Amino acid sequence: MDPAADGLLHLLKAEPTLLPEAPADHLGAAITHRTQDEIHHCLRCGQDAGIAYIAHTDAGNRWIDLCPQCAYWLRCNATPG
Ligand SMILES: [Zn+2]
Repeated sequence: MDPAADGLLHLLKAEPTLLPEAPADHLGAAITHRTQDEIHHCLRCGQDAGIAYIAHTDAGNRWIDLCPQCAYWLRCNATPG
């Protein structure tokens, strides 16, 4: 999955256990369902989120919901490696 999602946890100083649990498999279908069939709020700014990442944390897979602006911010600020 997108390595930037793991970096977001650090950037937001989010506690993984506070994020909603994500499934362990069928991630592509789960992301499509979450972003197209459900409404969630951006983790960073609270607007309607249209993008969902799955972060692989010690607490298991967790959802990170982002609006397009914050997803862009993430891509610009989460440097791989
Ligand atoms: Zn946002």
